[in-house]
Amino acid sequence: MTTPRALVAGNWKMNGLKASSSEITHLNDLISTSGANCDVLICPPFTLISTLVAMGAKNVPIGAQDCHMNVSGAHTGDVSAQMIKELGCDYIIVGHSERRADHGESNDIVKAKAAAAQEAGTTAIICVGETLQDREAGNTLNVVSSQVRGSIPKNAPAAQTIIAYEPVWAIGTGKVPTAANVEEVHKVIREILVDRFGADGKQVKILYGGSVKASNATELMSVPNVNGALVGGASLKAEDFYGIISAYDKIG
Ligand code: PEP
Repeated sequence: MTTPRALVAGNWKMNGLKASSSEITHLNDLISTSGANCDVLICPPFTLISTLVAMGAKNVPIGAQDCHMNVSGAHTGDVSAQMIKELGCDYIIVGHSERRADHGESNDIVKAKAAAAQEAGTTAIICVGETLQDREAGNTLNVVSSQVRGSIPKNAPAAQTIIAYEPVWAIGTGKVPTAANVEEVHKVIREILVDRFGADGKQVKILYGGSVKASNATELMSVPNVNGALVGGASLKAEDFYGIISAYDKIG
């Protein structure tokens, strides 16, 4: 069975105004000219989704960074997965560690959001990852395993499920785990996915995220069971992000 096609996804977090649409144009042009041996995605803040989708940059699909678990209702300030899908997005990130920490999102909440994303017809990119404290206590595999098991919805279709392993201590810090550390965690995630989905679990993408940049992308993306990257800071500028995408020119 072949490995899943890689995905390099950018998470702009709470960054970007309308002027940032020039980065999408530039990224689209870079991919048109030089190609991409992986799928590409940019998840801007909600406020930019319509603008960026309307640009019709065919090489740069647009996704979202979060959704509410309900379809509609009295949830001031929230946005449902259906609303996001209607805007033209096919991917929604859920359970990013910044949401788990800043908004107290438990595995149960993340699971409900992932279910909402999948029911709306999008693919849920479910984020997991240990804190530094977890790692130093030797709890990485236990924490990540229970997040993966606890955050995948009961009726999740494998084809609409992506896991992003993002060690919390590596996000935005410039610190990255060793390739051996990444391999160990991704192997355990793959085992859980196969246990859960059978043979289809081999086709579920497992992304690595945490201080990925052009200079470390080839090494990280070459690790077994790493099927792409979730990228924060280095996704904001088209040239930086394209440097990560082009790591896949060198990976067989
Ligand atoms: C992220 O927030 O998902 C992330 C991986 O950020 P950074 O690439 O900046 O570490």
